[in-house]
Amino acid sequence: MTERPARVPRADPRDVAELKRIKTAQPELASAVDMQLALVEMQRRVQGRVPLPWIQVDPQWLQAQQSAGRPLVRFRDIPLEWSDFRLTFRQTADILHRFEALERADYNRIVAIGRDGNALEPLVIAWYDATAGVDAGPENKAKTPPDAPAGLDQVLVLALRPFLARCAEALTQRLDLSAWKHGHCPFCGWEPDFAVITPSAERRLICGRCTGQWSFAPLTCPFCANDDRALITSFATRDGLYRVYACDVCRRYLKAYDARSASRPIMVAVDSIATLPLDAAAIQRGYVG
Ligand SMILES: [Zn+2]
Ligand SMILES: [Zn+2]
Repeated sequence: MTERPARVPRADPRDVAELKRIKTAQPELASAVDMQLALVEMQRRVQGRVPLPWIQVDPQWLQAQQSAGRPLVRFRDIPLEWSDFRLTFRQTADILHRFEALERADYNRIVAIGRDGNALEPLVIAWYDATAGVDAGPENKAKTPPDAPAGLDQVLVLALRPFLARCAEALTQRLDLSAWKHGHCPFCGWEPDFAVITPSAERRLICGRCTGQWSFAPLTCPFCANDDRALITSFATRDGLYRVYACDVCRRYLKAYDARSASRPIMVAVDSIATLPLDAAAIQRGYVG
């Protein structure tokens, strides 16, 4: 009788392991952790199939876009395969619905849009063009149509991420974006939804759509450009690992991971869940995310 070799379980990627650790340490976050785990695993699977795009950027155009505050990724630059996107869109909606982040009526309408190729493709293109503002600049804030189901924006953001993240990755390797001084993303024009304070005390913002990063003044509000320090409220967690910057002009806030006192680099998928209690604290003080 031959003995079967013991199967070595494949190690969890670090963010998955960290999320599971949060679930044990903070059981009240279990449902949020489980939803994040489902999203992270799905997005990782998709992103593994998406090729790193080669985006041709004319240096003069690049310069002009940067000085006008316009982002760099045009819809046609995104390595998006529609059948793959359709699947990702559907799976994202399924996950949000399963964890009650999407009402049934809205979920049904979103799934119907995803099934109809004639509806989905123009909707995604129009939504991206309007929210990125590559041609029109960041003033153009029209998002999904006014009669769109609630939550469609969130499904689009999450479903496009694995494709768009590859663009940010490709451009980050090749371009110098140190001249970009805006609060919105230099790649896709979206807003930051997290930040990291580097060991050299620089603040880097992280895009809520493509996960691209860029440097930004540490005490300026990225949402309204308020740079009066007296009108920025900042508070940290007791361990000093996380910080909130809240703006007393526009009342919005942004969370940050303070890598100066940390033992690992930032992992947005983990840190955004670990800081859910900070969101509650910020909201309680009258700020909005
Ligand atoms: Zn972006
Ligand atoms: Zn502000």
